[in-house]
Amino acid sequence: MTAHLQQRRELVTAVPGPRSIELMARKDAAVAQGIGTTMPVFAVEAGGGVVKDVDGNTFIDLGSGIAVTTVGNSAPRVVEAVQRQVESFTHTCFMVTPYEGYVAVAEALNRLTPGDHEKRSALFNSGAEAVENAIKIARAHTKRQAVVVFDHAYHGRTNLTMAMTAKSMPYKSGFGPFAPEVYRAPMSYPYRDHAVSGAEAARDAITIIEKQVGAANLAAVVIEPIQGEGGFIVPADGFLPAISQWCTDNGVVFVADEVQTGFARTGAMFACDHEGVVPDLIVTAKGIAGGLPLSAVTGRADVMDASHVSGLGGTYGGNPLACAAALATIETIEQDGLVARAGEIERLMVPALQKLQADDDRIGDVRGRGAMIAVELVRPGTDEPDADLAKAVATSAHRAGVIVLTCGTFGNVLRFLPPLSISDELLTEGLQILTHAFEETNA
Ligand code: PMP
Repeated sequence: MTAHLQQRRELVTAVPGPRSIELMARKDAAVAQGIGTTMPVFAVEAGGGVVKDVDGNTFIDLGSGIAVTTVGNSAPRVVEAVQRQVESFTHTCFMVTPYEGYVAVAEALNRLTPGDHEKRSALFNSGAEAVENAIKIARAHTKRQAVVVFDHAYHGRTNLTMAMTAKSMPYKSGFGPFAPEVYRAPMSYPYRDHAVSGAEAARDAITIIEKQVGAANLAAVVIEPIQGEGGFIVPADGFLPAISQWCTDNGVVFVADEVQTGFARTGAMFACDHEGVVPDLIVTAKGIAGGLPLSAVTGRADVMDASHVSGLGGTYGGNPLACAAALATIETIEQDGLVARAGEIERLMVPALQKLQADDDRIGDVRGRGAMIAVELVRPGTDEPDADLAKAVATSAHRAGVIVLTCGTFGNVLRFLPPLSISDELLTEGLQILTHAFEETNA
């Protein structure tokens, strides 16, 4: 972000403005329609808590580019580190002539991720690619094939991760056949499973795993400690520890997909930390590198080292620019106390949203941790999902200058993922505009 970027919402045209409308026409003529966009505005600059568009409109950012720019867009340390690196070299391929940045990121991941056992890391480009590699590693380690995932899960859009993702439309529909040996277990979803305890929900899931897959066939259980695209579902206390313990008891690799929850987002460095869960493998991406494409698998040395030499890798995995950005991102999180900042954001947002809920029976649930907060919208007096309302509120907020995203299996969840560099003032204003958007859709 350049120093002059004002930290203030300002609309100088209708949304979208004329230049965005022009660019959208060019997009429609040049870009495959399979690549959708949430908002019809084109960005030119972003940082702190705002995104500025080509027409000069400045939006309050409650999306962080889907949980990526946790330290803020163009965060100063990230910019400096990437500039320094881009002048030295841009690529050699770590598998050809390695470089220190990659090793330093692996060391940082080994230090920061849950558990103080001996660990190793491997770096990739996207969340989906890292999830795929976690499965390769778990299969090499266990010599078993099956993979268990959960209802409402999202793990990516590659072939294996499409099989692992739960929701058909838009992620899977028409794109099969999908990878075999992927099985689905029920998830703890306190708002919709009548708040059965975490232990009970885990027992149900484990029964299905044992009866329908069999521990002896199972390489890995993969779970988002708080589900992201599925609807910001926070499982009941005790669910994750019970699943993790069952994996340990049965020689199954427990994989935490922390692509969306990792790196301070939930008010802990990793969401597993909230319940003291120590995964065998943890998958990270998104918030790891301040917006540069980087992902990782980190975990127990004996599991990580199961692959033969050169069994893992890729041309760009752990690109030097992305590694420089990751080291600067981690430094920013640690030096600027961003884990605590995520907690402050929760304490600002949750009571405000609960107050909104008290006056509006279309808000069925307020949930989340840290700066990963959501509201689930329903038809008044029922728990029937209301996706149209989520869309209407989001569109109204967009027009008023707030970037907000929807998610959820039923499309009825509004999710808030502000950058941790946002000010309380912008956050409060964003919530006021949201309140207004709810009022507007009540007419
Ligand atoms: N896992 C989770 C939990 C995610 O939220 C996402 C992305 N939304 C992915 C995996 C896939 O990451 P990517 O889009 O970088 O492939």
